[in-house]
Amino acid sequence: MIPQLEIRMSWPYNHILADDFSYDDYRKDADKVIEKHKINFGKFDRSTRLFQIAFNKNKIRIPKLIEKYSGFVWRQKYIPIYLVKMTQKPSIADPLTLKFRDEIDPMLLLVIHELTHLNLPEKMQFEVNNRICEQWVNLITRNVAINLNIDMSNPPMRNFDQALELGWDLKKKTLKNFFNDTRKQNSSDLNKPPSVKLHLRDA
Ligand SMILES: [Zn+2]
Repeated sequence: MIPQLEIRMSWPYNHILADDFSYDDYRKDADKVIEKHKINFGKFDRSTRLFQIAFNKNKIRIPKLIEKYSGFVWRQKYIPIYLVKMTQKPSIADPLTLKFRDEIDPMLLLVIHELTHLNLPEKMQFEVNNRICEQWVNLITRNVAINLNIDMSNPPMRNFDQALELGWDLKKKTLKNFFNDTRKQNSSDLNKPPSVKLHLRDA
């Protein structure tokens, strides 16, 4: 079963994550700060509409394609996706919170990338060497983007091209199967020196 994806807009959440949030202003006059923020939030909410339409058109295909290329079945039934207007902080994995940008295709790449992180088993999400994990996630992102005709010329992720270094064709074999084959290779070769084993276990 693929998870139900829903874009959520929350003004209090936006408020506390906003670049200009100030506890001092809040303590002085909370009502005034909230009123000002609500006006700004209304404008922000409207500015996300085109992206929301583009996302909603693809919100069933995206998780299906991620699962197809990763080979890992979704564990989540429902994933809310919060859009937040902030520039200074990174996007947040849980609750899934995306730094909003106006260009639709880079935003679609970002949401596919972050959802792919959530599709991988937990030990593959964060415990492995970060660079390798990012390569896996970006490889799936690229394959999903090709299926959905998303422009990849201006990706929001740094190192987006490093995924190609893997040289893995996910149309032939899922990420899970590539991963299992690498593990089998490692455990069958008992004569490898320890440093190599360690390196391969990380991978
Ligand atoms: Zn990532």
